[in-house]
Amino acid sequence: MLKGKVAIVTGSTSGIGLGIARVLAGQGADIVLNGFGDAGEIEAIRSDLERAHGVRAVHDGADMSKGDAVRGLVAATVEKLGRIDILVNNAGIQFTAPVEEFSAAKWDAILAINLSAAFHGIAASVPPMKKQGWGRIINIASAHGLVGSVHKAAYVAAKHGLVGLTKVVGLETAGTGITANAVCPGWVLTPLVEKQIADIAARKKISRRDATMELLGEKQPSQTFVTPEQLGGTVAFLCSPAADQITGTSIAVDGAWTAQ
Ligand code: NAD
Repeated sequence: MLKGKVAIVTGSTSGIGLGIARVLAGQGADIVLNGFGDAGEIEAIRSDLERAHGVRAVHDGADMSKGDAVRGLVAATVEKLGRIDILVNNAGIQFTAPVEEFSAAKWDAILAINLSAAFHGIAASVPPMKKQGWGRIINIASAHGLVGSVHKAAYVAAKHGLVGLTKVVGLETAGTGITANAVCPGWVLTPLVEKQIADIAARKKISRRDATMELLGEKQPSQTFVTPEQLGGTVAFLCSPAADQITGTSIAVDGAWTAQ
């Protein structure tokens, strides 16, 4: 159980991050939500976490594309909640285009949010985690951290980078009570993937249902979406004593995508 621990989950106003925040709160951790969205909806998520689980929950809207803001999120957490025990680097965006047409601005944004934000968050969190002799760094990478796909140059580069960063941080923190791991999900039905399904449906002039089957059929042998709750369960496992010696590695949760 995680009572008394404080967890930051970046990009947790939606999708996978929200699923992870709910599972960690369910285990008793105080939660720092982060991400964009409608202020009323975010407040409803925040107050619901407190009511349902009896934990403290705050929202910090720090922009993960800016290194100083990421470091500020960690500093504000320590100031407001007294500590930082679990850092889940989850915020991420997607954009698809052939490499020769790939917008340089999109490349920069994806690298900043999907990779550099994790570097800044980790750099700010390791000192307080070392001091307390316990910490969990969990980077939400992707099957695309392990294998490539067409039209995802920036995303695949960033996610492979995140898996590499995880190895280095695992090595540098080994024996300190801190572990650093990457979780590599396959397809999860969130707004990020809904957009890709809509793009397939529009491009091929097929129904949303057929586009969904095509998306799953192309990559994910289980033909079933991973859920945010299952990923929350993976993160909770990595925070448990059973995972004390799991560090510097990646766990694929991908319906056998990367077994191919
Ligand atoms: P999502 O679009 O549902 O949620 C993304 C979250 O990140 C939102 O809360 C959003 O507000 C936040 N965010 C975006 N830009 C931000 C910024 N600059 N600063 C702060 N917050 C920002 O996406 P998701 O599918 O839940 O993806 C979450 C993570 O999981 C991403 O890193 C993504 O690459 C990864 N992932 C997703 C899938 C999938 O199939 N959905 C598969 C593998 C990996």
